[in-house]
Amino acid sequence: MSGEGAERRQRLRLRRFFMSFASYAMWYLIAVACWEAGLIDVSGLTVTLTGVGIFSSQLIFYALIRSGANLRFRDPSLTVSQMVVALAWALVLIAVSREIRGVFLTVYMVTLLFGIFALDKRQFLFTGLGAYIGYVALVLAERMRGVEYFSDGYYIVSVVVLGGVLLWTTMFGSYVSDLRYRLQARNEELEKVLVQMRELADRDDLTGLFNRRVSMDALRRLKARADRTHEPFSVCIIDLDHFKTVNDEYGHLTGDRVLAEFSAAMTQELREMDFFARSDPSFGRYGGEEFILLLPGADIEGAHRCAERLRNRQEERLQHRSDSSPTCTLSAGIAQYVYGEDIESLLRRADRALYAAKHEGRNRVRVAEV
Ligand code: GH3
Ligand code: MG
Ligand code: MG
Repeated sequence: MSGEGAERRQRLRLRRFFMSFASYAMWYLIAVACWEAGLIDVSGLTVTLTGVGIFSSQLIFYALIRSGANLRFRDPSLTVSQMVVALAWALVLIAVSREIRGVFLTVYMVTLLFGIFALDKRQFLFTGLGAYIGYVALVLAERMRGVEYFSDGYYIVSVVVLGGVLLWTTMFGSYVSDLRYRLQARNEELEKVLVQMRELADRDDLTGLFNRRVSMDALRRLKARADRTHEPFSVCIIDLDHFKTVNDEYGHLTGDRVLAEFSAAMTQELREMDFFARSDPSFGRYGGEEFILLLPGADIEGAHRCAERLRNRQEERLQHRSDSSPTCTLSAGIAQYVYGEDIESLLRRADRALYAAKHEGRNRVRVAEV
């Protein structure tokens, strides 16, 4: 996971924490107002202590997330523990309320809805069930203690209705969290496909090299950078010699194979040049049997050394081929960027140098005139 992603997730967790904190504050203020109105029958001390208890429990969660200690847990969002604590406080509120108990039962639902952020189906079911068991236990305890405030009918209806409501909340919540999981999986898949598509769109089918569009984009960027930094760079246009005869003598498919093998060999050779320790050259298919090599940081001498090395490599390949396999030498034209010139002029100069190399008998590298 990237550091940036992890940080973003921590920020999101803090935001969710504040949401739940605000929810606590709201319910606590409502409870205090109800207590003032005589709807909750507990001492002022209990109200204060409950407030302190709620605040302290939240402080712990805040400290855990703020310090990054939450990352050591299996679920760093701590959603299940936060929900269990919240449901426990909700149960306290329900336990101390009398005629407005029904209103406070809704706190349960609000709390469960927080689970949409992080719970899976199973966790949702368990949390919902836990909340329900909590309420049923309260009812049983009150019956055993002989609390007579509520009628049997109230108890029965509240247990049945709460059961139904919690079931629906849980089902709805797990449906949404399921949807969230699937969306996430789909997003990851799409991102992967996007990377593949970009790769496909940038590469030439036959050789796997960058295509002309990518090379031209890279060239424009190189020029922009050179205009800013005055750092030199060069281009090299490579053309295979008498390639047409390969096609004519061995067929088009063999010609294709020669192009692919040539590309792979040159890429390999470029990789081995320590000359490019700082910035990578970019090797692309310019068209047909022509290739373009961009050499960031290279002046004309550097470019010449590099092109010569490729030419040598190609010659070596010729010597080592088996008798029947075709291959052909290369000619190259190189040009160093002259500060301020446009890309067309740079390419034209390299192209003229290539033409000169051909004219002088092929299998050679020629430097462009300035
Ligand atoms: P020169 O030394 O002057 O460059 O001679 P040449 O035969 O290489 O030059 P020319 O431009 O006349 O021919 C290039 C040939 O490359 C023509 C074309 O059929 C062939 N070619 C271009 N693209 C492909 C390809 O993708 N596959 C195959 N097999 N041949 C291709
Ligand atoms: Mg050619
Ligand atoms: Mg050509």
